[in-house]
Amino acid sequence: MNKNEVAKVVIVGGGLVGALNACFMAKRGYDVYIFEKREDIRKADEAQGKSINLALSHRGRKALKFIGLEEEILNNAVPMKGRLLHDLNGYKKSVPYDPVFKKCIYSIGRNFLNGKLLEAAEKYRNVKIYFKYKLINIGLSEGRVSFLNVEKNETVEFQADLIIGADGAFSKIRRFMETTPLFEYSQTYIEHGYLELCIPKEQSHLMKSNHLHIWPRGEFMMIALPNKDNSWTVTLFMPFKMFESIKTEADLLNFFSKTFSDSIELIGSKELITDYFKKKPSSLISVKCSPYHYKNKFLLLGDAAHAIVPFYGQGMNAGFEDCTILDNILNENKDNFKLSLQNYSIKRKANTYAISDLAMYNYVEMRDLVTRPSYSLRNLLDSL
Ligand code: FAD
Repeated sequence: MNKNEVAKVVIVGGGLVGALNACFMAKRGYDVYIFEKREDIRKADEAQGKSINLALSHRGRKALKFIGLEEEILNNAVPMKGRLLHDLNGYKKSVPYDPVFKKCIYSIGRNFLNGKLLEAAEKYRNVKIYFKYKLINIGLSEGRVSFLNVEKNETVEFQADLIIGADGAFSKIRRFMETTPLFEYSQTYIEHGYLELCIPKEQSHLMKSNHLHIWPRGEFMMIALPNKDNSWTVTLFMPFKMFESIKTEADLLNFFSKTFSDSIELIGSKELITDYFKKKPSSLISVKCSPYHYKNKFLLLGDAAHAIVPFYGQGMNAGFEDCTILDNILNENKDNFKLSLQNYSIKRKANTYAISDLAMYNYVEMRDLVTRPSYSLRNLLDSL
């Protein structure tokens, strides 16, 4: 690239991280092209795959603030000031996240947030978004990407100075990078899957507001996050073998009345049956890889680089933090892609590996340890 030329950046994936990163790149003055395989999420009827709402925390907010979107997003989110634990008998206990400084996390709709990020990206004159363009091939050494326009069944090729893989946990770009020497890669599927249910807004008066509700049951758990329309998205996390053992409506009602008895009134038994048998439980994958870049041309961000299990509520937040950190590194290296990408991979690895491990650990914390006295307190009591 000539010094006076504007860098051309392709972002593969217009999900949460790709759309946010487009804003960061556009602010730097680059020409940005997003290619997204799905239709425009703002025109889709309902959330596709994954969770309907997400917990937004400090790292994510910082990135949203940088592009001027934090306030609007928080105005459309629901603060969660603590956990509300439901025990087997239906007794509830509130555990505030931060009793001293009163900081909290926010529940935000995935589609809403993704739509707002795409809208923000589109406001930059130097951003173009192409929907229904699926990445199908890559020329790693030339910095070339080929897309299939799924509507017209036509293939287009694109060459860019920098290609960002924000194409999620099953990243195609990462697949190509896996074939290069010294690229480390590992993936782990946990034995637990998840299934989403709903508490309708009409029942919300029975739910303590501004909390993340948890039904911790040792080997498994159920959680509920509030939506802006007063409904709650409920997620049941359980080993697949437990999902499989529930075969009939009677099995389901029997299981729920034994383990989550107070939730039947909240969800409604008819709706519980419909939603439970409507879909198969989804799997949860954790991906680690290193480095995140290939030469001065390709970089992985978000789940493409570090998909993690959702129990720390940090997957998206970590992906948003990727954008902030990359931007800082590009500043430090005066937009030199070669140096920036190298530095980014070195700087980011320890933290993304750490959050991945913490997320794995937090499943045990959420489904089991929250119900027990803390280890140190128990030791203290034992020693008396
Ligand atoms: P994605 O959201 O997966 O977006 C990738 C995009 O790339 C998609 O739009 C996809 O269509 C597109 N794409 C894929 N392949 C191609 C291709 N070949 N060509 C073109 N486009 C392509 N995180 C939190 O921070 N807080 C939470 O509370 C939280 N809860 C979660 C709950 C569950 C049940 C799950 C599964 C995850 C949760 N996460 C949470 C994690 C969060 O969903 C992810 O970290 C986040 O979606 C990552 O964003 P992304 O843009 O990197 O990837």
